[in-house]
Amino acid sequence: MDDKLMLMIPGPTPVPEQVLLALAKHPIGHRSGDFSQIMAEVVDGLKWLHQTQNDVLILAASGTGAMEAGIINFLSPGDRVLVGSNGKFGERWAEVCQAYGLTVESVTAEWGKPLDPEQFRTALEADTAQQIKAVIVTHSETSTGVLNDLQTISSFVKGHGALMIADAVTSLGATSVPMDEWNLDVVGSGSQKGFMLPPGLGFVAVSPKAWAAYAHAKLPRYYLDLGKYRKDAAKNTTPFTPPVNMFFALQVALKMMRAEGLENIFARHQRQMNATRAAMKAMGLPLLAADGYGSPAITAVAPINVEAEKIRSIVRKRFDIAMAGGQDHLSGKIFRVGHLGFVSDRDILTAISALEAALQELSYEGFVPGTGVTAAAKALAAG
Ligand SMILES: *Cc1c(COP(=O)(O)O)cnc(C)c1O
Repeated sequence: MDDKLMLMIPGPTPVPEQVLLALAKHPIGHRSGDFSQIMAEVVDGLKWLHQTQNDVLILAASGTGAMEAGIINFLSPGDRVLVGSNGKFGERWAEVCQAYGLTVESVTAEWGKPLDPEQFRTALEADTAQQIKAVIVTHSETSTGVLNDLQTISSFVKGHGALMIADAVTSLGATSVPMDEWNLDVVGSGSQKGFMLPPGLGFVAVSPKAWAAYAHAKLPRYYLDLGKYRKDAAKNTTPFTPPVNMFFALQVALKMMRAEGLENIFARHQRQMNATRAAMKAMGLPLLAADGYGSPAITAVAPINVEAEKIRSIVRKRFDIAMAGGQDHLSGKIFRVGHLGFVSDRDILTAISALEAALQELSYEGFVPGTGVTAAAKALAAG
């Protein structure tokens, strides 16, 4: 049915009507006082969301652009980097590093399993000459629905002295990412994930320690030169023409987030993750990520004896709900349900109901109708 599409993918995520309406306004000049006022307000809101006093810079880029900026501004050709790799995005950051001539060492875990912080500790302790210049970790690995223990890994990085660069693209706005408390040096994210915005903006938060590295970093940079963004941010403007309507939208989205409050936002994502996971278990659908390692933004499901794509296709065609498939070797083997950003408890019940209908249609073995919705409702009521 036209105009009824419900996005339950891990980005782009649903956008509230007030935010969509902000996008429909006439653009304004980015060198105007009006724009500067908006810029000052949104930067303040972004610092609140990152729980930081550090600079948070805004780029016209997707999350990958923000992460690329967060890597290339602080390193020099040949520098050694330690990259956590347990999914598509961890692999991507290793590729970005290789593209820029960095020397990559990976800490890996099987897709669906969390990274082991002890492996980071061992690699960092062995590096007595302090040749490792940065550690790059994906907090919420969207391709598998696994939440990595960024806090513990970061505590080991602090003792070593390397920069801690975090991909918080699907954790920021879903769970607490206290940049200052966790000693994160660079945090990258993108508007179409936990921000309740369409795609288009990338965000990079930068610590004083990272700025010190910036001063002598020699990788080439121009459009993504974060020093330019910092300099202009001090005057409440941007070095290049920003998507000004996205700034209007960001202003509204941050206002909504502040009204809800950080603790409530995190609790909502936690509750919806619990409900989604409980429902899958009750329906006999195995979860890819073990209990305790589930991402509050996305749940990956690996059905047995039925094709994941068949379930996804029924849900999409009959109920206008978009869920995501698997990536790379997990393609066709899993489906992923996003519960990130502007998602209400009702959306979870709707998605689980649609999954129940799909399982009934496919005569999924062992599935008892009603069990998924019952389990989800119970978990939602428990808070
Ligand atoms: C979506 C996503 C990104 C960025 O992807 P873009 O398509 O470049 O916005 C990076 N990391 C994770 C974990 C993501 O989910």
